Amino acid sequence: MPDKYFSLMPAILVVDDQATDARLLSDAISDLGQVQFVTDGQAAIELARRIGPDVVLLDIQMPGLSGFAVCKALKSDPKTCRAAVIFVTSHTQTENELQALALGGIDFLQKPLNVPVARAHIKAHLALSTEAKRLSTHDALTGLPNRALLQDRAAHALEVARRKANQVAMILLDLDHFKTINDAASHGIGDLLLKEIATRLCDCVSPADTVSRQGGDEFIILLPSVDDVETVANFTVRLLARITEPLLIKGETYNIGASVGVSVFPHDSHDLESLYRHADAAMYQAKQQGRNRCRFFSADIEKNTRARRLLEQNLREAAAGKRFEVFYQPKVDARSNTVVGLEALVRWRQSETLIASPDQFIAVAEETRLIIPIGRQVLIQACHDVKWLHDQGFALSISVNISAIQFAEADFIPLIEGALTDSGLGPAYLELEITEGVLAKNIEATRNTLAALKTLGTRISIDDFGTGYSSLAYLKSFPIDVLKIDQSFVRDMLVDTNDVAIIQAIITLAQTLGLGLVAEGVETEGQASALLAQGCTIMQGFHYSRAVPLTELFNYLTDRKREGAVSQRT
Ligand code: C2E
Ligand code: CA
Ligand code: CA
Repeated sequence: MPDKYFSLMPAILVVDDQATDARLLSDAISDLGQVQFVTDGQAAIELARRIGPDVVLLDIQMPGLSGFAVCKALKSDPKTCRAAVIFVTSHTQTENELQALALGGIDFLQKPLNVPVARAHIKAHLALSTEAKRLSTHDALTGLPNRALLQDRAAHALEVARRKANQVAMILLDLDHFKTINDAASHGIGDLLLKEIATRLCDCVSPADTVSRQGGDEFIILLPSVDDVETVANFTVRLLARITEPLLIKGETYNIGASVGVSVFPHDSHDLESLYRHADAAMYQAKQQGRNRCRFFSADIEKNTRARRLLEQNLREAAAGKRFEVFYQPKVDARSNTVVGLEALVRWRQSETLIASPDQFIAVAEETRLIIPIGRQVLIQACHDVKWLHDQGFALSISVNISAIQFAEADFIPLIEGALTDSGLGPAYLELEITEGVLAKNIEATRNTLAALKTLGTRISIDDFGTGYSSLAYLKSFPIDVLKIDQSFVRDMLVDTNDVAIIQAIITLAQTLGLGLVAEGVETEGQASALLAQGCTIMQGFHYSRAVPLTELFNYLTDRKREGAVSQRT
């Protein structure tokens, strides 16, 4: 892409108290850049501050400020410190050279000057400084303008747009699932993919537009002058079509999608900061809505973004203030109508009367990794509560939901170990519920974690079974104890024969592999007896009880105990 920043001539400043020497040298190098000369140290410092020279050719011996003093001043000023200072001197003493280098000079030219040699030195330094400048404004991998340069250009585009009353579009593009491909592919493939994407993006734009890489798999395209939002919409359609064309790299084909967010000045954003923020919010919306699509910033997105930020902030405060409670839902053996276990379900107390259910916050807690402190609180609380129930004579097991993020944490095993030791709960009473996704993620690490859990003596169940990955191979190779039939199958089992078939298949699978079974979401007597007839005996659902606080659970258990319907300590 043409880059106006680098078509500018480099600036060269010649400083020599001998005006004739200064002029001679200036003339000899006039084709290398914009050359200016001065004959006095103080004037050199002032001019350098104005023009920000790339190279300064500096005489050491001058009346007034010496070359050394000038070099020191240039190097200590942020406006001039990047200049390459080449001393021009008739002195050759080592001491002089050492002092010059110590002050930040990088080269020497001997007087009287040998013009071809001097030119070669100056050229070499100009090439270096051009490269340094390019690196500070461009991304090393793709060669695209970087964040800093984009910022500069966007600010400039807004200035012009304000004067000329035109529109500026910022298009933020984030590749979908790039991390997965990058992790799975062999080394270097990720880099090649990013380079190819960069090329494709550049293919789609005009010379006045800027394609930049912000880092990782995020790109921003700046259209500095657009006529209407419609044009931008058409542009993003072309852009996505180009990105999603199959990519052939080292004989492998990759299909990459991207989520795109767009904001337009002054249509929906009034300054640089809001232009960025709104493009980001719109991109986030595109990800939320299923990826590989484009969203324009809108009032709705604004509202959602605000609500989400508020939720995130409240969640952070709640996690720090331990404002989470654990409710318990019984699991019942339908043959004897006995309570055999419990599932811990987190609740967020927002006020005396208002309690938020996990569906309202677990997803955000996972995205923000706040699920780690929240999950820790739930686990510790659940172990303590259930140990207390044991002490009251109710020897029930407890299931705790573990999200993929918690499971992958380095200190997950020590956490489980600590919760068991601190509460005094026997490991065999603790069951961890994970989803199929956890098992499919990082097979080796998962295998090690599961093995460590087995060594501790806890049980593992697969939650929402049947809704995740279709591969059943892991059931054979991982130490799983229980399958939980997802409530979506139970919900319609009396009216939908497909669900009956799926449930039957899961039951047969569990029986064949010798796994325990729990049906969740059992709401009616009809569902319970149908499940029982099919061979599933353990049920969980509103038909038996909702999730309730510990005291309420204790009363429920005590009442049922009188009726003989709860497992008791023997
Ligand atoms: P889940 O693990 O599948 O939990 C079962 C959900 O179904 C619970 O919703 C429970 O209240 C609800 N449920 C139970 N019986 C019935 C029924 O008969 N009918 C219907 N319609 N629903 C029933 P809840 O408590 O809102 O939890 C929702 C999800 O949030 C859980 O689904 C689980 O994935 C997650 N979750 C809950 N607590 C935690 C936690 O401590 N840590 C983590 N990581 N996730 C949790
Ligand atoms: Ca669960
Ligand atoms: Ca479930």
